[in-house]
Amino acid sequence: MLRTNDHLSADPRRLLTRMRQLMAVQENAQERLDHLTDLIAEEAGWDVSSIYLQRRSGALELCATHGLDGASVHKVSLQPGEGLVGLVARQARPLAVENAQDHPSFSLKPETGEKAFHTFVGVPILRGGRLVGVLTAQSREVRVTQEEEIETLQTVAMILAEIIASGDVIEAEEMAELDVRQSRAERFQGGAYSSGVAMGVAVLYEPHVGSEHLIADDSKDEDARLQTALKALRASVDDMLAGGRVPLGGPTRDVLQAYRMFANDQGWVERLREAVKLGLTAEAAVERVRNENRARLMKSPDPIFRERLHDLEDLASRLLRHLDGGASLLPDLPEDAIIIARNIGPAEMLDLDRSKIRGIALEEGSASSHAAIVAKAMGIPLVGRLEGSLDRAEEGDTIILDGEFGLLHIRPANEVIETYKERMLALSERKQAYAELRGPAISLDGQRIALSLNVGLLIEMTQLEETGADGVGLFRTEFQFMVSETLPRLDSQGKIYKSVMDAAGDKPVIFRTLDLGGDKVAQFAPSTVEPNPALGWRAIRMGLDRPGLLRYQLRALIRAAAGRSLHVMFPMIATPWEMRAAREMFERELQHAEHRGHAIPSDVKVGLMLETPAMAWAVEHVIDAVDFVSVGANDLMQYFFAADRQNSRVSDRYDVLSPSALTLLKRVRDVCAAHDTPVSVCGEIAAKPLEAAVLIGLGYSSLSMSGNNIGPVKKMISGLDVEKLTHWLAARTDSPADSLRPLLLEAGEEAGLPLDVIDANPQIQ
Ligand code: PEP
Ligand code: MG
Repeated sequence: MLRTNDHLSADPRRLLTRMRQLMAVQENAQERLDHLTDLIAEEAGWDVSSIYLQRRSGALELCATHGLDGASVHKVSLQPGEGLVGLVARQARPLAVENAQDHPSFSLKPETGEKAFHTFVGVPILRGGRLVGVLTAQSREVRVTQEEEIETLQTVAMILAEIIASGDVIEAEEMAELDVRQSRAERFQGGAYSSGVAMGVAVLYEPHVGSEHLIADDSKDEDARLQTALKALRASVDDMLAGGRVPLGGPTRDVLQAYRMFANDQGWVERLREAVKLGLTAEAAVERVRNENRARLMKSPDPIFRERLHDLEDLASRLLRHLDGGASLLPDLPEDAIIIARNIGPAEMLDLDRSKIRGIALEEGSASSHAAIVAKAMGIPLVGRLEGSLDRAEEGDTIILDGEFGLLHIRPANEVIETYKERMLALSERKQAYAELRGPAISLDGQRIALSLNVGLLIEMTQLEETGADGVGLFRTEFQFMVSETLPRLDSQGKIYKSVMDAAGDKPVIFRTLDLGGDKVAQFAPSTVEPNPALGWRAIRMGLDRPGLLRYQLRALIRAAAGRSLHVMFPMIATPWEMRAAREMFERELQHAEHRGHAIPSDVKVGLMLETPAMAWAVEHVIDAVDFVSVGANDLMQYFFAADRQNSRVSDRYDVLSPSALTLLKRVRDVCAAHDTPVSVCGEIAAKPLEAAVLIGLGYSSLSMSGNNIGPVKKMISGLDVEKLTHWLAARTDSPADSLRPLLLEAGEEAGLPLDVIDANPQIQ
């Protein structure tokens, strides 16, 4: 006999209202689960309703039932994939079967008395896309299950997941055994993208909506809220696409197009509205649809689907924010928050309360991701590629994030906590010792060395004060361009430059003009695939061939510096003509500003960034056109040794302390000195104590590096006998050795080096 369930009262809203009433009653956990199954069966007109929860072992244990034999509760369990319940769990999808016994997956558990039932419906209980259990309904009669009935059960399952996880249903000791709220220590190995070690509490960047805010008082109001939020969401996506509001580090154009498509996708919108109609709050509806998408798409072997999931999830998060009146997803951060997220944009990171954030753990991310750059600038550890971590962590868990080794510890054991406490203490003592060295860098034999900062973000400017640096030797301007969806406008460029100068006060800031191309890609620029990007169309080559962009930037810099001194340098110059052409463009912009009556800088200094070997041999032919030279040793050495700095297989193959490289560096410094042109070195070699010592020994008295290297280099300088080292080096620059490093370490104090530098650089045998 086949019949439809026209006898059902099946008013889902009434069911939800009664669920809420039930939750308000004080009773023990088992009673509460039992009452829930009674309620589902009665209200939705089923003969049986059961809740199976997943244990650690993966087994699905019958935890409550209305209609099956009560004696089998906590006695019967199914393995994942076993029976229809196991099938629902494995597929993480609802299943409706008219005649359960005919289904190939049917497995009889006689102790439950199941034989007497025909129609079976099972829906997964999901939380954060992870299976918590299975909710089932059965009837004695064979009947066609309506789509709405499945919807209702899914809604109930979602609420169940939240209330189970919140501890309202199952008491703590029982919970430890069930895999609902997790308690086991977990360790994830990912990539260390910003250094440092942090201990704190987990803050999930996609928080669950929370059990107290799931059931709506009035579905009509809720639908109206949802519609308003959807409208605002669509408008914001359109706005971003039109380039009106440029989100710093927002999604790319392609992604925005996908967002627009999804935001207008009737299927998605309908599913949200359906969930609201059933009695959920708009937030809970978003969460439910997100959960289903996640469970479905995460199982897909096709990366295109998983990519689509990422877009949908991001869109859902944005919608939640609109529902929240635009508020952040992270309202009240604890004092020592460690953010765990799938991914995070740099703009979102800059929005975080820096005083409370201790670290960032991402399921995605990469070393060169913008989030990593911002984390470094903020001085907080960031570990990426921690796949699956978001689903394993719970809000409020104890977390250790190790940005040195790329580790994430969730709910670590006490011994692990103790070990890390010791490590953190040692690290902070070292940091403290460096922080105390805030005075000028003076060598053992009394030479003053200027130490400046390499930065790329406004927030890094606080390091000037923290480190006592002499100024900013390299401000990488391209970051603002890389994270921007459209070309930053004149005033937004100018605003940043002005703020940087304001933050520097009397200290000089050297702005490096756009160094795009190679691995530095701007989202608004069409990407071209080049056979050798590092040797390709980048930096000044782009600036001179398409002068609009560079001219615009120079104009912004000139305006921002009104009445103050302005230092600008051009990257990747390979010929004297390039330098002269760049300088000419700058002069023209200066005249343009003057003619227009704009306030111009009080004084300008135009510099050459020496990054090509060709320029090292031609510097004297252009020195009349430059006010200073800055050696970009990262690029200079990659071109000198023909070893790609991005390729870990070759980037460390050659030693900059080789006589050939040192001869080149010495030549540049000597030509500049002979022409009274200030010269400094920026790039990684200036940041390493031993290499920095050698540069000083070659005659460089100005070095620029990232903030956390200033302390160690300054300490090295205080123990360095410059004269001794200069003599030692002068006698060896024509050595046939591959590198002077072993000889230098062997000579040690004889070469004027401080003892701790020798100790920190074990000799190469
Ligand atoms: C360099 O090349 O040495 C340098 C400082 O510039 P960047 O690392 O930004 O290329
Ligand atoms: Mg460079």
